[in-house]
Amino acid sequence: MAKEKFPFQAEVSRVLQIVARSLYSHKEIFLRELISNASDACDRLRYLALTDPSLLGGGDTFKVTLGIDASERTLTVADNGIGMSRDELVENLGTVARSGTQGFVDQLTGDEKKDMALIGQFGVGFYSAFMVSRKVEVTTRKAGDETAWLWTSDGKGEFTIAEADRAHLGTTITLHLAKGEDEFLDRSRLESIVKAYSDHVAIPIVFADGEVEDTLNTASAIWTRPKGEVTDDQLNEFYHHVAHALDAPWHVIFNRVEGVLAYTNLLFIPSARPFDLFDPDRRHRVKLYVKRVFITDQAEALLPSYLRFLRGIVDSEDLALNISRESIQHDPKIARIRSGLVKRTLGELKKKADKEADAYAAFWKNFGAVLKEGIYEDFANREAILALSRFHSTGPEGLTSLDDYVGRMKDGQDAIYTITGEDLDVLRRSPQLEGFKARGVEVLLLNDAIDEFWIPAVGAYKEKPFKSVTQGSADLSKIADAPEAAGETPERAAEPAALVRLIAALKDALGDAVKDVRTSERLTESPTCLVADEGDMDMGLERMLRRHRDSTLGNTTPRVLEINPAHALIRRLAELAEREDDAEALGDSAHLLLDQARIAEGEPVPDPGAFARRLASIMEKGLAA
Ligand code: ADP
Ligand code: MG
Repeated sequence: MAKEKFPFQAEVSRVLQIVARSLYSHKEIFLRELISNASDACDRLRYLALTDPSLLGGGDTFKVTLGIDASERTLTVADNGIGMSRDELVENLGTVARSGTQGFVDQLTGDEKKDMALIGQFGVGFYSAFMVSRKVEVTTRKAGDETAWLWTSDGKGEFTIAEADRAHLGTTITLHLAKGEDEFLDRSRLESIVKAYSDHVAIPIVFADGEVEDTLNTASAIWTRPKGEVTDDQLNEFYHHVAHALDAPWHVIFNRVEGVLAYTNLLFIPSARPFDLFDPDRRHRVKLYVKRVFITDQAEALLPSYLRFLRGIVDSEDLALNISRESIQHDPKIARIRSGLVKRTLGELKKKADKEADAYAAFWKNFGAVLKEGIYEDFANREAILALSRFHSTGPEGLTSLDDYVGRMKDGQDAIYTITGEDLDVLRRSPQLEGFKARGVEVLLLNDAIDEFWIPAVGAYKEKPFKSVTQGSADLSKIADAPEAAGETPERAAEPAALVRLIAALKDALGDAVKDVRTSERLTESPTCLVADEGDMDMGLERMLRRHRDSTLGNTTPRVLEINPAHALIRRLAELAEREDDAEALGDSAHLLLDQARIAEGEPVPDPGAFARRLASIMEKGLAA
């Protein structure tokens, strides 16, 4: 059969261009990528052979074989794994496959330096072979198939596929090295690369020289070795491999659990946010092994989504080797391992939080928003997660825990006060905080979208209810330390009778645009603010849902307009309200008061034209006076 030509998918061509120009200083990572693919291929065949041993076609000792031919200037990486069919060749080596490469493409910036750094981080998988090769050949035969195939490309826009001869199943990658890449023909160089990047690989990586084969790696799964014999370097290297990461792990959770259900977990908490942390599927990336056989990296039931920052493996002696990927979802043993892993992880986090507050703050910055999903998703561990949570507040600098907040509560204060919104700086300037600040009552500033969800679900922490400062009434008078403590006389408030009349006039003018108009204890400097009525949706939540275009939301819920009786503007308006001849000017002022309260919230003014007209008219009168 003749050779067939195929173009690379556009994304692949982009990757290949970057790779070909590559000035990246650690080109040797191509070997890590090819070995990782080869060992994955062996893992996959081993798994399939559990139910269909005939697939193995004889031997079941898996290995990766490296070979060099100095006169041809080729390096080969061969495996006896699953192999690829013709269609899989086209799909896997012609488009952007899953994990590594897709993450790379998603993050490309067009800035050569940054993109280059990403190569190291993600490895760009198979395509990194073109960092050192002028031509790459892949011969492969899939387990169970009769036909073998040869894939060839110079990495410039297209590849070809033709039938090939191959006696045994598996894949051989032949790299025709580019000029200047002769170091990869040097056995000792290859050996040191394998040691540095691939020592943990659980199957032997052998160097073949004629009939002689030498194993270059330790070739036992790192988690099966006694903990004391595993060095930090080895842990790091394994982490880089399982997590597709380049940072050092922030924390390693490595232990064996014995008993009715035995398993080993080697889990890593990264020190930087993985690129896929906020993917909508919220999948965790921990790999499940049974008796050292890789089963799946999609065992959703193994860990809750809110721990999806974890990377690493779990290996159990006590699961059936032929456990199907579907039945994992309902396996009671998996459920028990899950709850053990959750307890262990939360326990480790607590230790870090108690002993190393600064380091913990770094963790919190990266993953706090994810961990907080557990507050409403995992009822059993809710208290533990709340205790691990950290928040910005109007109190002391830095982050605070709820326990510390509760310790600072004022006499007479019976609630944990909160305000939610997107932007910390905007939150800090919210008019609704003024009265709290003046009384020295601390308010938590909640600026993660997730906070809008767990707050209503939780209600209270250690019997102290959460209370939003932008919702319902605020009875601050019960709490000690009224504002005159500062030594200044508080502003004289408007006359009560005039205020009553002003409120009636404002309600009249604003009609359905507000739910109510009330005097406020919340305000010291601003003339007005908006709050949600008790029982209505809090303002931050509604704003957030609107941003995400929740179509079930109708018009904005009317708010309560609170006015500050001590503010000069409100006093003047109250005087105006007593003189009934100026009703129209009061109507304009009423709408302007409402609009500027909206603006202070960062909300749009519903009728900008009317707003501008009223503002101009009031300014004109002000200037004329
Ligand atoms: P990733 O490994 O992140 O999926 P790669 O670019 O490294 O991305 O590989 C793309 C795909 O090609 C793999 O997912 C796999 O399906 C296939 N592949 C690569 N090398 C081999 C191999 N030696 N044996 C079988 N399949 C392979
Ligand atoms: Mg790969």
